[in-house]
Amino acid sequence: MPPIALSHIAGMELAPSQWPMLGLAIMAAAFVLVALVELAAPVRQAVQSKPQRWLTNLALFAIDTLAVRLVLPAAMLGEALLAAERGWGLFNAVEVPAWLAFIATLLVLDFALYMQHRATHEIPLLWRLHRVHHSDRDFDVTTAARFHPVEIVLSMVWKCGVVIALGAPVLAVFVFEVGFAVATLFTHANFALPRRIDRAMQSLFVTPDMHRIHHSALERETNSNYGTTLSLWDKLLGTYRGEPEREQTRMTIGLDEWQDDRPARLGFSLLLPFQRR
Ligand SMILES: [Zn+2]
Repeated sequence: MPPIALSHIAGMELAPSQWPMLGLAIMAAAFVLVALVELAAPVRQAVQSKPQRWLTNLALFAIDTLAVRLVLPAAMLGEALLAAERGWGLFNAVEVPAWLAFIATLLVLDFALYMQHRATHEIPLLWRLHRVHHSDRDFDVTTAARFHPVEIVLSMVWKCGVVIALGAPVLAVFVFEVGFAVATLFTHANFALPRRIDRAMQSLFVTPDMHRIHHSALERETNSNYGTTLSLWDKLLGTYRGEPEREQTRMTIGLDEWQDDRPARLGFSLLLPFQRR
């Protein structure tokens, strides 16, 4: 199957080597936009020092980016290009319409990440890594950047494996990566959509109100709403929760064990996987 050229989209002429820069620009713009809206209309008051939290969460993001570059320099786009070149994976072996391969890639990758997220809650060793993300006692756009580097590297290995097995079209991988990153920033926003819009949107997509429940300190709420983009998987597999037990503005965010100022520190966050409960 011939790869779809990005030049077919919005009349732009970009070689695949330039796509990462375009992706980065879109993600940076989404970050600034979400940060500005939550600054203007926050839904919850911060309980931790914002400068220290932001510095820690953004430093984790910088370390994660470096770790992925060092361990897997080709990342997802590189693997998709390699699969196309070598004829690896389902869509390079079976003749399917380009639009079908494109949509199937988006759906399969989104489901693969739902399953990955669920596994990080259900497998104790993976939970040790993932609890770094959940230990944030506030919930805002920088929570989306707060992951342990080992979790990010493992996640990239998993995503690259899915891309190769699918023989995923390069453009679909690019659209998924950028779309997923923007969705992650949006769903961690400390703002609320008007209730009617939020409810309508939740019939298909994850909203900040829906994902905030996943960051509740109540274990039964933490272990729900695993989706990032589509709400479909939670609804199909029985992990969907529409309302928190306490109000959105009053529920406790974070983990019960670390309701103090430690999660805002970088050293503590990096060592958290090795802490006893
Ligand atoms: Zn989680």
